[in-house]
Amino acid sequence: MQYQHMEKGLVDEGLSADSGNSDSSWHALDEDYESGSDSEDISDDDSDENLGTNNDECHTQEDVPAYQPRGMAFFNDLGNYGEYDPMDRSDKDGLIYWNKEKNDIQLHMYFESKEQVTKAVTMWSIAQQREFKVIESRKRTWAAKCKTASSGRLAAGDCDWSIRVRGNESLTVWNVTKWVKDHVCLGEISGNNNRNHTSTVIANQIMHLIENDPGHKVKQIQAYVKNSLKVDITYKKVWYARRKAIVLAYKSWASNFQQLPQYVAELLRSNPQTVVQWLHHPNSIEDVKIFKYIFWAFRPSIDAFHMCRPVLCVDGTHLRGEYRGKLLIAVALDTNNQILPVAYAIVDEETIQSWGWFMEQLRHHVVRDLETVCIISDRHRGIVNDMSESPLLQVGCWI
Ligand SMILES: [Zn+2]
Repeated sequence: MQYQHMEKGLVDEGLSADSGNSDSSWHALDEDYESGSDSEDISDDDSDENLGTNNDECHTQEDVPAYQPRGMAFFNDLGNYGEYDPMDRSDKDGLIYWNKEKNDIQLHMYFESKEQVTKAVTMWSIAQQREFKVIESRKRTWAAKCKTASSGRLAAGDCDWSIRVRGNESLTVWNVTKWVKDHVCLGEISGNNNRNHTSTVIANQIMHLIENDPGHKVKQIQAYVKNSLKVDITYKKVWYARRKAIVLAYKSWASNFQQLPQYVAELLRSNPQTVVQWLHHPNSIEDVKIFKYIFWAFRPSIDAFHMCRPVLCVDGTHLRGEYRGKLLIAVALDTNNQILPVAYAIVDEETIQSWGWFMEQLRHHVVRDLETVCIISDRHRGIVNDMSESPLLQVGCWI
C-alpha cells in the first residue's frame, strides 16, 4: 500500500510534529450496510447535478500553506456563501425570498444561487410526494417539469406542473419566472421511492449531524429524515448518504492523505520541538514523494516519559477506511498509573520492517540516553527481532 502526496521539502527526515490530535476522518466509522435488512435497489443518479460536490485537488506549491481547520467552511448545504454578493434587502422590500423553513415556492420568488433553486424544488417535491425532471440547466437558467409529462412539448393530458428560474448577470440572484404549482397527474408516490430524494440530497440534509459527530448510526439518520420530512428512506440509501456527507464534511480519503504534509507542518508550527520522521517509498522522486511510514512524538510527552518509570507498552491497531493502515503507539504509565501516550506511527502493515522502523525511531527520539527500558508488547516478530538487536531496549517483561 502506498500513500502518495505531492510535496517538496517538508517531507524529508528531521521534522518535528504535534499533540495527539489525529485526523478524525481516519477513524470515521465504516459501518457495514450489509447488516441492514433493506436490499432495495436505489438510483444514485442526481438529476440536480449541482448539489453537494467537492473537488479533491492536490496542491503542488513550494510553500506549504497554512492548515485549514475543518468546520463550517466545508458546509455547503445551501451553496457557497463565500462567493455570494449580498444584496441590500432593505432596498428591495416586497420581494419574496425563499425560506428553508417554510419550504414554499412562489412566482417571482428570489433565490441566492442555482444550488439553492435545485435544493428548494427538490425539498418541495419530496414534501408533495411528486417527482420532477430537469429539462434545462444552463449558466443563467434552470427549468423542470413533472416527471410524468412528455419529454418534448406538453401533450394532451400531460401534467403541466413546471418551474423556470433565471439568474442575474452576476448569478447572485435567481428569480422564478414561471411557476405552475399544481400537479394534475396521478403520480403520487410513496416517500421512499422518490427518485429526486437521492443519497446526495440526504447527505446535504444531514451534513450538520455528521459535522458534529461522524459516528452517527444509519438508523439514527433514518429516524431524523423520517421525523423531518415524514418519509421513509431505505437503509442502503441512508448508508450511501452518510458516506457522502462524511466526504463533504471531511473530504475524501485520498485528499486527506494528500493534506498530511500540510497538517504536519501546522502541527510543527503550533507544537515546536515535537519529532516527526517520514519514511518514503523507494520509488519516490523529487517532486512526488510516496509516503510509506510516518512517526511522531510530542515533545511534552517525551519529556514526561523521562519522569516516569522506564516502561513502554507498544501495540498496533487497525485504521479503518479506504487505505487500511495500522496505527502503532507507545504509551507509558505516570506516577498516578495514568496512561501517557508517548509516540505514534502510521504504517501499512504490522511487519518486521515496520515494527523495526518504529522501534528504531522510539529508541532514537524517545528513549535516547536511558540505559534500560522495559518493553511490554504482544511479542510481534518485528518487536522481538528488534529487541534482540537493540543495545538500549532490554527485554524486561512480556505479556
Ligand atoms: Zn405532475
